[in-house]
Amino acid sequence: MKTLLVTGAAGFIGSHLVDRLLREGNRVVGIDNLLTGSKQNIMFALKHPNFTFIKQDIIDPILVRGGIDEIYNLACPASPEKYQADSIHTIQTSTIGVMNMLELARKKKAKILQASTSEVYGDPEIHPQVESYKGNVNPIGPRACYDEGKRIAETLCFEYRRVHQVLIKVVRIFNTYGPRMAYDDGRVVSNFIWAALHGKPITIYGDGSQTRSFCYVDDLVEGLIRMMESGTSVTGPINLGNPDEFTVAELAKKIQVMIGGKSVRVYKKLPIDDPKLRKPDITLAKKKIRWTPKVSLDEGLKKTIDYFKTQV
Ligand code: UDP
Repeated sequence: MKTLLVTGAAGFIGSHLVDRLLREGNRVVGIDNLLTGSKQNIMFALKHPNFTFIKQDIIDPILVRGGIDEIYNLACPASPEKYQADSIHTIQTSTIGVMNMLELARKKKAKILQASTSEVYGDPEIHPQVESYKGNVNPIGPRACYDEGKRIAETLCFEYRRVHQVLIKVVRIFNTYGPRMAYDDGRVVSNFIWAALHGKPITIYGDGSQTRSFCYVDDLVEGLIRMMESGTSVTGPINLGNPDEFTVAELAKKIQVMIGGKSVRVYKKLPIDDPKLRKPDITLAKKKIRWTPKVSLDEGLKKTIDYFKTQV
């Protein structure tokens, strides 16, 4: 039986990953500071005999007894609203926190998967985004705490590989959605669904012509596991995302049609440095880890809407 450490275990993606790893018969240690994650997300896991939960921040010194085979380092707020709320802490998470996890991987001789992001491409000048594109990030803008944080996190991973031969796996995660997103998470899918369900105005930033490509959480989790299980020469960075691209206005319309009701659309200023286009090129993921997302936006939205209907 393998022992796996998941940081950000009570978060949106982390909790789905934990459930799947437990179902597959692993022992899982989950770490979370419960800043944006919640115990409600790990209700199933907390009752499982093979799950141990540690409430702690990854920027604090960490001591885990016994062996660890693999580390999934997912801890970090991912919604612009949340990662900007305490920007310095976001930077600490991707620097001090990532170094703590890499040190742990080194000591335990564990493989480590680092969650990076499509935000390393910034407001991209090439479309779709391929891993070889070096990005267009504003280093002093309001998104930099996350974007530059994740860029240095990637650098740290590759230096730990070069200097200490740590087995690293870097994935760049594109917009992901599904059940267990917090209703007040601030990201577009949860905001639109929550507003439409409660007959509140749907707020579109800018004119709604900016695009995103939305990946259902189960597909993403499959990609994370495939990446972890790939051969040692596969380090990444590899894009994980659904290449089906939609404008934000199209997304709003879809959700309004699916939910019905009479929520109106209102328009607000586009936030500074908000990327205009985003769509992953997933050629590398298809080739190196044989991964391709399966769940269409319609199918995934339906499941997500059903989940939000159960939330008060
Ligand atoms: N957005 C919007 N209304 C909202 C939340 C977000 O129009 O209530 C837009 C946002 O400006 C961006 C896109 O939707 O262009 C995706 O935003 P999100 O915060 O989900 O993630 P991002 O891809 O920007 O990290």
